[in-house]
Amino acid sequence: MTNPIAVVTGASAGIGAATARRLAAAGFGVVLGARRLDRLGEVAAETGGRAIELDVTDAGSVEAFCAQIPACHVLVNNAGGARGLDRVDTADEAHWRWMWETNVLGTLRITKALLPKLVASGNGHVVTMTSIAAYEVYDGGAGYTSAKHAQSALHRTLRGEHLGEPVRFTEILPGMVETEFSVTRFDGDAERAAGVYAGIEPLTADDVADVITFAVTRPPHVNLDQIVLKPRAQASATRAHRD
Ligand code: NAP
Repeated sequence: MTNPIAVVTGASAGIGAATARRLAAAGFGVVLGARRLDRLGEVAAETGGRAIELDVTDAGSVEAFCAQIPACHVLVNNAGGARGLDRVDTADEAHWRWMWETNVLGTLRITKALLPKLVASGNGHVVTMTSIAAYEVYDGGAGYTSAKHAQSALHRTLRGEHLGEPVRFTEILPGMVETEFSVTRFDGDAERAAGVYAGIEPLTADDVADVITFAVTRPPHVNLDQIVLKPRAQASATRAHRD
């Protein structure tokens, strides 16, 4: 018996890298995709996985990536993130385009390409990393919340379209997780990014990876549809207790 294969996008950092480590420890062979091949190689070396360059915003890159994956049991649509925190009246169209291309169309491209292999595995599972931003809105967040709402709608639609087929669909909706997310959002401004987590104990990437691993290791007839997880001190996108 060969190990089941889990494909993780955005596995060079944060939640994706932690998920690759957890899934490998749970017995999956992991295939890792992201743009930074050097960082991806480090995670592959740790996990015994395979690193393949992937830019989810580029259809050709997605096609080349998926062509190298003969079998797939689990797909973790994790690549994504936020850019900027501008109000709608000063919105930066380039930021919006980045967020929609990465979170929404990236998820569409990869899922579309791998679904036949997931179904053919006889026990497929698509895990999509949205966010509490997939059901909340907040000032300055419209580019990100609209993209996460759309990504969630895409993912939940698949649940109905593939009813009766051997494939499960789980949406993960985290609150605050300390990763490179805020550094990317604020264009490399590490001080501003650190302020997001000031006075609060955020989730770690490993906390989220643990939950993903739980979901994919349930028996095949059990579908965890949506999992919302937040730090204890966070009630919503706009309300948290800070010491
Ligand atoms: P992160 O540390 O910034 O990691 C983002 C990952 O996405 C990196 O591995 C990055 O790799 C990859 N990525 C970005 N653009 C890509 C592209 N075009 N093609 C392929 N890979 C790409 O952030 P994170 O917090 O782990 O984020 C992972 C997911 O969780 C995202 O979807 C994010 O929206 C979601 N999320 C995060 C939080 C949070 O508070 N951190 C909360 C809720 C949801 P490369 O740069 O090497 O390509």
